[in-house]
Amino acid sequence: MQSIKLGRADLHMHTTVSDGLATVKEVLQHVAKRGVLDVIAITDHDRIEASLWAYENRHRYPFDIVPGVEVSSAGGHVLALWVTKPIPMNMSLKETIAAIHEQGGLAVLAHPFHVQMGFVMKNAPKYLRKPQLLLEWGLDAVEVHNAGMLTPGCNLVARSMAKRIGITQLGNSDAHTLGAIGAGWTRFPGHTAEHLRTAIETQQTLAYGRMWGAREYAKFTRDLIERRGQRCSDEEFDLGELLEPQARVEG
Ligand SMILES: [Zn+2]
Ligand SMILES: [Zn+2]
Repeated sequence: MQSIKLGRADLHMHTTVSDGLATVKEVLQHVAKRGVLDVIAITDHDRIEASLWAYENRHRYPFDIVPGVEVSSAGGHVLALWVTKPIPMNMSLKETIAAIHEQGGLAVLAHPFHVQMGFVMKNAPKYLRKPQLLLEWGLDAVEVHNAGMLTPGCNLVARSMAKRIGITQLGNSDAHTLGAIGAGWTRFPGHTAEHLRTAIETQQTLAYGRMWGAREYAKFTRDLIERRGQRCSDEEFDLGELLEPQARVEG
């Protein structure tokens, strides 16, 4: 029997356009140099310009690029993939998914059980009690491995919920530093963005990953403290926010 070659994708990473430490060009050069990923998406928080730049320049790189953004919805963070226009913040999860689909994109619930993010955890009991709501609202996939999670249980619970409802599972790095890119990954039959989209739509993905390395946490945390410490009083400083963008895995 002929074996099918599996591609490798990381569809969740940040640049300096939001709270990442590397510019979009540095991210793309790094991915090209490593040569491990077949498809990536840059998904800054509520800002699409770096992702669009990468998408428009994809012919210059030896891997495929999906345009996207990480949308701050009232129902948690949502990766909007294959979209080229901004998606409004603070809508309900159902409305956010609908807005992504209107653009022909796919909607992925990112780190649904991120215990360090208060507003994410507000939604967690609902998703655990009635996970089928996610299917009813048209969600396309759940991020079951986010390499920035400090608590391994966050990913295990996400994976178990996704299995229960039979929804597509993705593994991503949520990288904010170059060294974390590829720490979470999704395997899929084929090697292009188009193959990946088909795999997501037909549930033929496998989610893997490890945790960010200690150096990556340290770099990101130091940067966050320097940047936010300048404009936040101690009272306003939110540990959840500080810890938001990270993760870990299995095989
Ligand atoms: Zn997030
Ligand atoms: Zn993120």
